[in-house]
Amino acid sequence: MTAPRPTTLEDAATRPAPTAETVQRRYATDETSRPRSAADREHIMQNLRFGADFSDHMASARWTADTGWSEMRLLPYGPVPLDPSANVLHYAQEVFEGLKAYRHADGSIWLFRPMFNAARLAASCRRMALPELPAEDFLSSLVDLIRTDHEYVPHVEGGSLYLRPFIFGDGAGLGVKPSASARYLCIASPSGPYFKNGFAPVSIWVTQQYHRAGPGGIGAAKTGGNYAASLLPQKEAQQKGYEQVCYLDSAQGANLEELGGMNVFVVRRDGSVQTPALTGTILEGGTRSSIVRLLQDEGRDVQETAINFEQLVADIRAGEVTEMFACGTAAVVTPIGKLGYEGGEVELPKGEVTSHVYDTLTGIQYGRVEDRHGWMYRVM
Ligand SMILES: *Cc1c(COP(=O)(O)O)cnc(C)c1O
Repeated sequence: MTAPRPTTLEDAATRPAPTAETVQRRYATDETSRPRSAADREHIMQNLRFGADFSDHMASARWTADTGWSEMRLLPYGPVPLDPSANVLHYAQEVFEGLKAYRHADGSIWLFRPMFNAARLAASCRRMALPELPAEDFLSSLVDLIRTDHEYVPHVEGGSLYLRPFIFGDGAGLGVKPSASARYLCIASPSGPYFKNGFAPVSIWVTQQYHRAGPGGIGAAKTGGNYAASLLPQKEAQQKGYEQVCYLDSAQGANLEELGGMNVFVVRRDGSVQTPALTGTILEGGTRSSIVRLLQDEGRDVQETAINFEQLVADIRAGEVTEMFACGTAAVVTPIGKLGYEGGEVELPKGEVTSHVYDTLTGIQYGRVEDRHGWMYRVM
């Protein structure tokens, strides 16, 4: 077992972020279009869904080897023309991020650890042979987009403006090679809670049949291909009556890895907490690493380690494991109420540690709990 120590991503993420005033206005707007009436926007804001409605603008930039990143603009939200032979459509050269803008009680708007997302986007780009967008250009796109579309940041508890930055190879040609050009876009979606039933336990199917990632593969990169691979397992799990899928390591099929888009934690009866170690096949979540820090701050024993699934089931049955939860930006923290697998099922209660982690993290994000690590970044 290893005690958590800062990862490369964590190191990059703790570099001081340039202020919003320093990075603003790199993404020029020719005209600010307001395609919606105030009444239509109000309708969206009164009926918040997740990732279904989008704000008026999107940030955009283009890359070629000759020019580097250029043409940084805020454009009206809308369709993107692509050559039918564009790399991304055939060979899936694409990476993305997900983060939220939160409104505090005084009306100010904040991001949670945007430098972590900047560093992870760059790391994903390296793995997918895409050009890296400099952290300051990444931050600037978020600041400019949020400031322009600030009316889309919800005022209600649990609401946020979900930001989806992504980069893809848009170069034309069917030759299998890194695209000669790339496009960066960031879109923004005013959102309510990710799971419709809120902080309710989810049921998980632990698949022995499918894997999410393999050694040397792309499991540690935030790229669409990993999600494409998860859609069939997810559909089959839902047919069995489970909401989400948890994957085991592909080398031995023995150890817990993560869900299709969320990391997992296990709480033991003695109060210690475990999460699967970052073996290269797990996506390093910012929520995961923040939770590790928060629990350590409280003096809790937190282990990043191998979690054997058979042993886990035995420990749940014996009462040695008392809670499990999944975490990620979109859903924050979600209690795991049930684990199903070929030949059995175990249930877990909704526990105190899970609720406490949820309250603390959302408390920091919405400005109700002291931000001791300087994680919050003021946009306006
Ligand atoms: C994005 C993602 C997570 C969660 O990362 P956060 O930074 O916490 O949002 C976990 N697993 C996978 C596979 C992901 O794509």
